[in-house]
Amino acid sequence: MHLARFPRVHLVQAPTPLEPLPRLSAHLGGPTLWIKRDDCTGLATGGNKTRKLEFLVGEALAEGADTLITQGATQSNHVRQTAAAAARFGLRCEALLERRIDTDDRDYRLGGNVFLDGLLGAVLHDRPGGTDMAAALEDLAAALRARGARPYVIPGGGSNPTGALGYVAAGLELLHQANEQRLRVDTVVTATGSTGTQSGLVASLTGANSGIPVLGISVRAPRPKQEDAVYTLSQATAGRLGIRGGIPRSAIVVDDRFVGPGYGLPTPGMIEAVTLFARLEGILLDPVYTGKGAAGLIGLIREGRFAKGENVVFLHTGGSAGLFAYQEIFRGA
Ligand SMILES: *Cc1c(COP(=O)(O)O)cnc(C)c1O
Repeated sequence: MHLARFPRVHLVQAPTPLEPLPRLSAHLGGPTLWIKRDDCTGLATGGNKTRKLEFLVGEALAEGADTLITQGATQSNHVRQTAAAAARFGLRCEALLERRIDTDDRDYRLGGNVFLDGLLGAVLHDRPGGTDMAAALEDLAAALRARGARPYVIPGGGSNPTGALGYVAAGLELLHQANEQRLRVDTVVTATGSTGTQSGLVASLTGANSGIPVLGISVRAPRPKQEDAVYTLSQATAGRLGIRGGIPRSAIVVDDRFVGPGYGLPTPGMIEAVTLFARLEGILLDPVYTGKGAAGLIGLIREGRFAKGENVVFLHTGGSAGLFAYQEIFRGA
């Protein structure tokens, strides 16, 4: 997998640490747990979108763009990292924020990532919940072009075959670290939303014949829809890389039982997971993605899904800035 063929900028402090979680492992009494710290990618509080943005911004600069535009939910971590990447390269940034969650909570509407978006200089536009955000983003691109700007359109979550290359790189990085540390990885667990993370990991770990399965914990869509979306993007990503034989459908596994009432809505399992990681390991998860991903990991351990002695790597995809948008639900936890 020859990633140097693709335009790329430097943003990520790589390799991110691959570390054991001894106190959490002992507490849960299941497999040996490890964490891949992609919350430490280093750009404006970090996260997984930074890896995708290395390739997306690389392409934007190659095309002569002067503005990055993208979209997400109000508390999007992706928008925050895109705003930071734009600042880093002297590009303008405009973002559409969908009011996907119906709340007037001040922390949610103005705090956390929204506060950071503004600090980083992004121009924000609110859209009502249920808006066709992909279409709205094309409308914004057209309006900017009519004014003489040169926007580069980044889809929600940065999840297209260009952005997914960031997680191809992450999969290769993880494999290299595991080999160096003599660590046999039995499963990688990650939260999955816009699918670029799982798709890139599957493309690289399958393409490299690693034998390491990736389990996605959905934060939004039901399993069939999420698996189809991950499959489509992993195939397209494998196609760009010229991986022979493509990706088998069986390599795509998503568990949708930990979404709860919906995207971004709290669950007891999420609150437990965030609290356990904080108090046993000093690690900050987030309420929307990694909190539910870790709730899935904990739920599966309690179901006996992993054998004792197996090594399970949880991918920390970032998002802790979002905690400040959900302060009320953690008080007294
Ligand atoms: C976007 C995001 C995810 C999901 O990654 P996708 O590539 O969109 O599937 C997971 N965790 C955090 C913190 C995120 O911001």
